[in-house]
Amino acid sequence: MLARLETDEGAGWGECVADVEPGYSEEFNEGAWLVVRDHLAPALLRAGDLSIDDLDRVFAHVRGNPMAKATLTDAFVDAELRVRDESLATWLGAERNRVGCGVSIGITETTEELLDQVEGYLAEGYLRIKLKIEPGLDVERVAAVRAVHPDIVLSVDANAAYSIDDIEVFRALDDLDLLMIEQPLHHADLVRHAQLQGAIRTALCLDESIRSSADAAAAIELGSCRIVNIKQGRVGGIVEARRVHDVCRAAGVPVWCGGMLETGIGRAQNLALAAMPGFTLPGDTSASARYFLDDLTEPFVMSPDGTMSVPIGPGIGVSPRPERLTETTLRTEMLTRGP
Ligand code: MG
Repeated sequence: MLARLETDEGAGWGECVADVEPGYSEEFNEGAWLVVRDHLAPALLRAGDLSIDDLDRVFAHVRGNPMAKATLTDAFVDAELRVRDESLATWLGAERNRVGCGVSIGITETTEELLDQVEGYLAEGYLRIKLKIEPGLDVERVAAVRAVHPDIVLSVDANAAYSIDDIEVFRALDDLDLLMIEQPLHHADLVRHAQLQGAIRTALCLDESIRSSADAAAAIELGSCRIVNIKQGRVGGIVEARRVHDVCRAAGVPVWCGGMLETGIGRAQNLALAAMPGFTLPGDTSASARYFLDDLTEPFVMSPDGTMSVPIGPGIGVSPRPERLTETTLRTEMLTRGP
């Protein structure tokens, strides 16, 4: 779902990162559509003249639903910044004009297939390889990749598929020189993540567990992770993402930018975010071609050195190509302030 938000002065774009199914989080496309249409957008339209700092208050009556909130928040911020002729990267205090790219590889049928994919992405220049793991398809698979590529930057992501009873799996992964183990346990269980982090050498990284800067502060205080994956769409948008960054940076916890199959709209937001100073690890900000034959925007292309340039135009710096937007649109709904 994309939101195009028009103010008296300009317009901006936001992208919802929810999936078709409520598998990654409770949010999903149809639900987010209703939350935006029936709860968030009416509140925004009723609120009158607003600045970016007012958005939290305007949306505060809706509990949770960070992906739906991000859709409108990001569109609002984009509209504001386009009017000011300021890029999102500048507004965020970004310090780089190129960011390092990593790639996330899903669970493959066979180990050979996995090795082929790793080979292909390394040849394209990706700086960090992340392997999805699940019980039964973990240590052996990762060890096979590590054996062929002893020096690459390698991570794993479990998407909350394990319990603390699987600790031997993590002890075995500890020997494979991983940059991090991402979200091994249930998303709501910071306590057992802290227990696991205390028992292994490899840094844990939290993704699904971190839905706000308060979550990040709690996770850091408990020792539940040593790295945080920031997905702006998961934490309620670009404003809260900046707060998560600031909390982590103040605590000396490195962050990186995750991805959720965004089109060029969300990708542009991610690139601006990933250029902030605390983003010291390559993110999942892969090239458009990793996901789309024909993106909504002009495609984002990765250089052979594994970096991508941060958009510098006003706001997020990109817009959907009108003909591509028309081609791919399934449904549109317009909400207005009224007569
Ligand atoms: Mg993840």
